[in-house]
Amino acid sequence: MIYLDHAATCPMRKCALDQMTEALKNVYGNASPSYPPAQEAKAKLDQARSVLAETIGADWREIFFTSGGTEGDNWALTGAAEAGLPERTGGHIITTRAEHHAVLHTCAYLESRGYTVSYLPVDEEGFVSPDSLEKELAAHPDTVLVSVMLANNEVGTIEPVEELVRVVRKREQELAGKEAVPEAKRKETGGRRILFHTDAVQAYGKIPIDVKTLDVDLLSVSAHKIGGPKGVGFLYLRKGTRIGALIHGGAQESGRRAGTENVPAIIGFAAAAEEATGKRQSEEEKTIHLQQFFREALRVELQEKEGIRILWNGPQPGERRLSGNVSVSFPGFDQRTLLINLDLAGICASGGSACTSGALEPSHVLMAMTQDRKRAEGTLRFTLGTENTEEEILETVRVLKETIDRISHDRELPEKCHK
Ligand code: PLP
Repeated sequence: MIYLDHAATCPMRKCALDQMTEALKNVYGNASPSYPPAQEAKAKLDQARSVLAETIGADWREIFFTSGGTEGDNWALTGAAEAGLPERTGGHIITTRAEHHAVLHTCAYLESRGYTVSYLPVDEEGFVSPDSLEKELAAHPDTVLVSVMLANNEVGTIEPVEELVRVVRKREQELAGKEAVPEAKRKETGGRRILFHTDAVQAYGKIPIDVKTLDVDLLSVSAHKIGGPKGVGFLYLRKGTRIGALIHGGAQESGRRAGTENVPAIIGFAAAAEEATGKRQSEEEKTIHLQQFFREALRVELQEKEGIRILWNGPQPGERRLSGNVSVSFPGFDQRTLLINLDLAGICASGGSACTSGALEPSHVLMAMTQDRKRAEGTLRFTLGTENTEEEILETVRVLKETIDRISHDRELPEKCHK
């Protein structure tokens, strides 16, 4: 088997598996009571929270455990929208057309609850422009929340979040100058009038993240994208930012996300995060090399030697793109046929995001970037991990070449038979 779908999920890191297994065996206490097994669980929980906070330059009190990226995104958006000013019956939200469905579908839900939403366009490489955000903020003085992902899961584009947050802060200052927001109201959003959320699920562990530099209010992360276990993640909530509770019940997670904590999974998550951030540079070197090797092999073997038309999606490899992502279109070919053939050869890849594979609609991200349905329908996403090898990539290119040759030959047959 050749696994080239690391953006969907990736194998667990040994350190995470070891620590989690050990915790499953021995750390059985519920982290709430005061007797020794409980206190041991509580100590491990606190330690994991501190380790995770450090990976993004946050304070441990700003980390709230969740079940993963989808929950973090849902909580950030609904919580921020609903925690707004007491008399508000709605408000405006700004997001982008290239977000993950965890954000887009939550926005659709909020629209059904009376909020209005603007979906910013992205350019051909998947970038959101600060100018378009500025214009949208000016057109909607009732904006309460902006949500833009840090890195795109389909094409690897790293969004200029720091710059986008600056646009929001500038707008807040302009509004504050125009109409003073009463102190009581300001407190509701932690002194901020417009909250900024970023979905960092794909970026976390792959690019350096410092929440103080980014100046975001909310940031969501998932463990299984960095070699941690599935079903756990965290939401960073800037100190003072008030958002509604997600799950009501006990006092866990400061009463905002009730329910007995999954301590072993959280321990595994912290171990994976510590290793992923510690080895980030050396791991990135490997995946950058594989990304370039893959692109070159596709260019030479398919484009140059076979004359097959290839279109690259997303920015050029480099600082503005995730290192392991290779998104490539074969216009005129059906991604499902290509994927089935890869699958038969034991190669795991994806058409767009994992959540859209099997869906009949072409990827909303590629449609937003290119407005080209044929291109979107013929797109494959490969996301590479450190355990991949050049041999695996050459085998993948060989299978792709064979498949495309066969499809092209079959298409020509009826014409030839007729002659
Ligand atoms: N956001 C992005 C950008 C993702 O890529 C994913 C998963 O693919 C999610 C959110 C959802 O994360 P999870 O699978 O942890 O719910």
